[in-house]
Amino acid sequence: MNHFITVIIFKLLIILVFPLSAQSIKNYQFKDYSQKEFEDSLETLRKEFGHRKKIPLKFELQTLIAISHYLELKNIRLKFKIKKKNVFPISARPGFNPLNFFRSRKNRQYLIFMEEGTSYVLNRSFNGQVGIIGHELAHIQYYKGISSWRLIKEGIKYTKNAAFRKKFEEDTDKKAIEYGFGWQFLEFPIYINPEEIKEYMLKIGYPIETED
Ligand SMILES: [Zn+2]
Repeated sequence: MNHFITVIIFKLLIILVFPLSAQSIKNYQFKDYSQKEFEDSLETLRKEFGHRKKIPLKFELQTLIAISHYLELKNIRLKFKIKKKNVFPISARPGFNPLNFFRSRKNRQYLIFMEEGTSYVLNRSFNGQVGIIGHELAHIQYYKGISSWRLIKEGIKYTKNAAFRKKFEEDTDKKAIEYGFGWQFLEFPIYINPEEIKEYMLKIGYPIETED
């Protein structure tokens, strides 16, 4: 067969067989992650996204699923720390180890802190927990792109300026929605309310139903 025609047929076949591969990550369509559906994929997810991650087994599957939305976080160092007391039920930041300050952005370590026994996380569905971790990873995705000095400056502003904090968290929710967590937030909103979640999902092209 003519080589040119073979190539065309091959391309057409790819489009027909893998229509989703052409979609951007923004179109992530998992509305409801269930533990049952994903527990057999744990080993595969570990191989793909578990490099340089220390995650307690209880949250490993939820975290690996959430990381699968952020391909650029695949190789970051990430560690979960369960603390007796934490200011927030769950939060994320780069490690304060001085070594971390001088490490290249690529090699920084990021921490997710969770308060021991926190009902905010533990009383959620599996899908809701994937969403909560998706929000924390949106913070990390942002931190990954900024310098250590800016991290410190913004960290201080975050603790002192309520308006900055509110905007910072709302922007983080929006970023997570861009990475496909809108459905999870609709089930369990983090900072922005369901109306705003829907509005933002529609704005960036999610095919969600609206009432007329
Ligand atoms: Zn946050």
